Amino acid sequence: MPHSRDPKLIVIDRDGTLNHDPEDYLRSPDDWQPLPGALEAVARLNQSGWRVVVATNQSGLGRGLFDIATLNDIHARMHKALALAGGRVEAVFFCPHAPEDECDCRKPAPGLYLQISQRLGVPLAQMVAVGDSVRDAQAARAAGCEAHLVLTGQSLAHRDGTPVPGLPAGVTVHPDLTAFADAIVARTGAAVSDQMGHS
Ligand SMILES: [Zn+2]
Repeated sequence: MPHSRDPKLIVIDRDGTLNHDPEDYLRSPDDWQPLPGALEAVARLNQSGWRVVVATNQSGLGRGLFDIATLNDIHARMHKALALAGGRVEAVFFCPHAPEDECDCRKPAPGLYLQISQRLGVPLAQMVAVGDSVRDAQAARAAGCEAHLVLTGQSLAHRDGTPVPGLPAGVTVHPDLTAFADAIVARTGAAVSDQMGHS
């Protein structure tokens, strides 16, 4: 493992970042479909020494649209698909609340990132967050994490170069999770030059 002097932790959003954004709510394992290249991107991050966890808003729980057992089944499918691609997400942190609950963990609130920092013992400033929506970036910046936006899911329309409204300062934008992984892996010094260049 190269360069392990710092705890290296990536916090990745789920819907629209790792898997296709559901039309309304993703409520069964069969609905979970990875975005092209996303699982391989996670695997490459793992291979260059990064731990990866997921942080996701799941207000469908708070609304009673699906239960925890179903959410666990969805994540079992996700973990299995990742394993087949050689990747690993070691934990899934989720906000189960509806917006009207006014909790402190539904993104753009920073609570999930604070939970992750506490539970895994990684300082917020050493966590790298990536997601497809402005609220992911807002939550990460509010928590004090490094933040990246991918132009998939909620931000797909901005592939044409139009600015993303409300994006906080200091957020790095990438076309997709593959490009994000390219940038992170290149910066962390792993030998991946033979894999670069695709987007
Ligand atoms: Zn919450």
